[in-house]
Amino acid sequence: MSAHVKIYFLDWIENRISRKEEIERHLQECDSCCSYYDKMTKLLDPGVISDLPRLIPDPFMPTRIVSLAAEQKQAQTKLLFSKIRLSLEGLAFILAVLIGIVLGKSITSQSPQYKTDEILGIYNSVVSPEDLSTQMELILDPLKGDHQ
Ligand SMILES: [Zn+2]
Repeated sequence: MSAHVKIYFLDWIENRISRKEEIERHLQECDSCCSYYDKMTKLLDPGVISDLPRLIPDPFMPTRIVSLAAEQKQAQTKLLFSKIRLSLEGLAFILAVLIGIVLGKSITSQSPQYKTDEILGIYNSVVSPEDLSTQMELILDPLKGDHQ
């Protein structure tokens, strides 16, 4: 076996490899593979593993994960609602603009129908005191008739 044997390390340490003698022969010849196998063997030594700092499991981790997921879901829902509200505001704005356009069109389409003297007549009927008095007489006329 001329090629390096580093990839066979796990099989070698678990005695799952048939070419164990070949590998050990290569290890005697090759410093690189020998130091690799040495290092890995020391790492997998139960004494070394027990000396490694241990991670203490957090008993509240499942609860924290669940609450975190719930928070994210809530945030997403809020975001969705804010988007909907934003689109509603936009829709209301567009609607207001459209109503404005329609009203403006109806006003501008109505105004050419009046002729100038008609407008003057309307203006006079509103502003001129004579017309107002005649209008008042018309309103008060039935009352006069009641008195007579
Ligand atoms: Zn090698």
